[in-house]
Amino acid sequence: MRFDIMTLFPELVKTVLGESIIGRAQKNGFVEINCYNIRDFSKDKHRRVDDTPYGGGKGMLMMAPPIYDCFEHIMAQKADKEKSTRVVFMSPSGSLFNQKKAEELAKYDHIVVLCGHYEGVDRRIIDEIVDEEISIGDYVLTGGEIPACILIDCVSRLVDGVLSDPECYENESISSGYIEYPQYTRPYEFHGVKVPDVLISGHHGNIDKWRKEQSKMLTEEKRPDILEKYKKEE
Ligand code: SAM
Repeated sequence: MRFDIMTLFPELVKTVLGESIIGRAQKNGFVEINCYNIRDFSKDKHRRVDDTPYGGGKGMLMMAPPIYDCFEHIMAQKADKEKSTRVVFMSPSGSLFNQKKAEELAKYDHIVVLCGHYEGVDRRIIDEIVDEEISIGDYVLTGGEIPACILIDCVSRLVDGVLSDPECYENESISSGYIEYPQYTRPYEFHGVKVPDVLISGHHGNIDKWRKEQSKMLTEEKRPDILEKYKKEE
């Protein structure tokens, strides 16, 4: 899967996604992540990419032309024209990102992500090139780079080969419809608290049953909203 990110701060995105599992996934060729600096596409002699909003108001807006030229550059490089592309704009006004949306996006071969900054982006470029606007939560950040990293991290781990075993995410919080059961590792006793007996019993049926009960109980206690949502969708 290929991600192309249009941003004013490519180093920020590269640093975050260059480490750990997603960094390894790139080295091993399971995902390709390219960052493009929108400023490189400005035709202004000072490499300007923003201007004041028509009608007045505080702050600066990112201009449409450099973003459009950056997008054209990305699309011209696309090796296989048949491959499916989804263009996403990270925006607090978008639909809320969740595991289901990540699963939907993981079906595409190519995702282009536009990161806004300052007061946002000229509406005309969104209307022209963007397929969907996605928000990572009901709060406002300074830029779309951290939201883009969240989206790309979450979608990448669903790509074949990125995690050692698909079971890693199948039984996880949210995708299973419940939050995860408590997990323990060595030492057996920590600050006087021992690992629950059932987990060292070696009885896989009982371990499975205990985990399911714990998941259900914790979801009811901490995230009843998830239970309600999955009940409605079933
Ligand atoms: N004026 C905009 C508004 O009221 O919706 C906020 C602009 S925000 C300061 C700058 C950029 O950060 C946005 O264009 C978007 O790309 C990104 N951003 C901020 N909060 C976000 C969120 N919750 N989810 C996704 N992107 C976000």
